[in-house]
Amino acid sequence: MPKYFLKTFGCQQNVADSERIASFYESRGFVAAQSEEEADTIVINTCVVRERAAEKVFGLIRNLSYLKEKKPNLSFVITGCLIGAASREPSGKMLRSLRERLPEAQFLPLEEVGFEYAPKRAAGKLASIPISNGCNNFCTYCIVPFSRGKERSRAFQDILDEARDAIASGRDEIFLLGQNVNSYGADFLMNALGEKREVFLLPDGKEVKPVLVKHLNRHRIPTLFPHLLEAVATMPGVSKVSFISSNPWDFSDELIEVIRRNENVDRTIHLPVQAGSDDILKRMNRWYSREEYLALLGRIRAAIPPVRFTTDIIVGFPGETLEDFETTLDLARRAKFDKAYIAWYSPRPGTAASKFPDDVPYEEKKRRWKELDALVNKR
Ligand code: SF4
Repeated sequence: MPKYFLKTFGCQQNVADSERIASFYESRGFVAAQSEEEADTIVINTCVVRERAAEKVFGLIRNLSYLKEKKPNLSFVITGCLIGAASREPSGKMLRSLRERLPEAQFLPLEEVGFEYAPKRAAGKLASIPISNGCNNFCTYCIVPFSRGKERSRAFQDILDEARDAIASGRDEIFLLGQNVNSYGADFLMNALGEKREVFLLPDGKEVKPVLVKHLNRHRIPTLFPHLLEAVATMPGVSKVSFISSNPWDFSDELIEVIRRNENVDRTIHLPVQAGSDDILKRMNRWYSREEYLALLGRIRAAIPPVRFTTDIIVGFPGETLEDFETTLDLARRAKFDKAYIAWYSPRPGTAASKFPDDVPYEEKKRRWKELDALVNKR
């Protein structure tokens, strides 16, 4: 039987995608190889969030090319965000350049894998379950809306079925994954609204009204995430439910209430703030202000006293002055984060921010990174 070896770069969502990619290959008669040397096909699940993603893939294939001498039929398959970003780039330049540099590699778009393959999970108690893919928010620094495309929610019942299967197979911790889990189901409600349906029906018969509401000065549609989270948390056999990643602007009072009344929902909440200055938040196309963010933390803390927060912050974003950075330090002090994942800004080709002058010198980005890291992570 042919053997595949799967190499995964990037986040938890990529790890979950790889569980499905493994099943995709096994359904085609492949078995897992223990190492690259054993493999007939090497599948590389790529990440573009970090810099020079394509270069890393070229480097990896170069390093492994000695295997071709022993096994001329060895094939390389590139999948994940790099292929997503290249195939959505309108000029086609990125895809052409990938094809030129990797003439022998095959490209596997994640859409071909889809959700229909039961994931091949690693051993343990945890089951990671993707609930949506893509993102509509277009934060100006972020490549995800290009690499993963428009946000598409997975059917509510499919998610529950997958959670049930995971519990039946001995898992008791469920990790719900999406680029913005809080907006889960907004696409279903928008469709219902477009079709002028009075209510959207959940699998348990609950009715949700598809109506636009005013939220943070914008008209938004409430989402189905609180319902989904509650449905998973109340399943017999679930000892813990976590979710990532959460967007502050979709974190509703309804969601806070669902977390409060279900004690098995993780009390550590990851809530990326990205910057503490309103000017920078605007330039990032994040739709909340620093005060709205801090007020949200306050509401969650008041409702769920043992809650802890982790966050993501970018330092050295284009135009970030010393004063802007000071406001980020101030927000971090007031927010009392348990941990911050801090990145210093570097442009991602194709994003809106890549056209802004990258005007904070590298050494200064590094200095700000160190200062913030010392404040939040080295206390
Ligand atoms: Fe990227 Fe998250 Fe912003 Fe979506 S919400 S564009 S995934 S940073």
